[in-house]
Amino acid sequence: MRQKLAAGNWKMNGTGAALSEISTLAALTPAPKSEILICPPSPLIHRAADISAASAIQIGGQDCHAAHAGAHTGDVSAEMLLDAGARYVILGHSERRTDYGETDAVVRDKTEAAIDAGLTAIVCVGETLDQREGGATLDIIAGQLAGSVPAGVTGETLVIAYEPVWAIGTGLVPSLGQIGEVHDFMREKLEARFGAEIGDAIRLLYGGSVKGSNAANIFAVSNVDGALVGGASLKAADFAPIIQALD
Ligand code: 13P
Repeated sequence: MRQKLAAGNWKMNGTGAALSEISTLAALTPAPKSEILICPPSPLIHRAADISAASAIQIGGQDCHAAHAGAHTGDVSAEMLLDAGARYVILGHSERRTDYGETDAVVRDKTEAAIDAGLTAIVCVGETLDQREGGATLDIIAGQLAGSVPAGVTGETLVIAYEPVWAIGTGLVPSLGQIGEVHDFMREKLEARFGAEIGDAIRLLYGGSVKGSNAANIFAVSNVDGALVGGASLKAADFAPIIQALD
């Protein structure tokens, strides 16, 4: 039985003042059945980990470098995230694929580095609107999964997030049938590549305009094991109802 996961991606939002949202969220979600994760900007990870230590909330990063250390000005390694208190890292988010030209090969190398360091990688995949309208969604997802996910992953080291690019921050959400089609397809692909046991253990999150009002319907879709939430994770009062819908 896969443990459900509600993950919040704060993106480039929040300074120290935003950390009180983590304590508020902990108070609003005592004894959650689902795993709860907040991925704040890097400079907040250490403090976020301290604040969440007494609660069920875990902390993650939003990116890491593929190398363990070295001359990479401005970058952060997976080991540094772990040392700061992170247990997860989001990799291959569409904003990084767009803003930094991250290819599947880059995402795969980062994923390997994250897993080597002891983090769980949340690898993001998703089609653009053009690709969906052109009927290419499943081909795109298959290609991104094959290219971004390294060999040797397990249900403990890897989570996949399906985030249609056109649904991120737009208020648009695929139909439940469209979400189910992609999630069932991803499950089949992972089982075919990694075997039934591992393929079945890898959690599949949906991301893109998840809110308290649509969460329960999305979570009822087959092979949806939780959500990767952007805007609605910034305020505890918005994120808590999503967690409650998952529980
Ligand atoms: P929104 O929930 O703001 O649409 O963002 C989704 C996302 O990109 C999470 O990684």
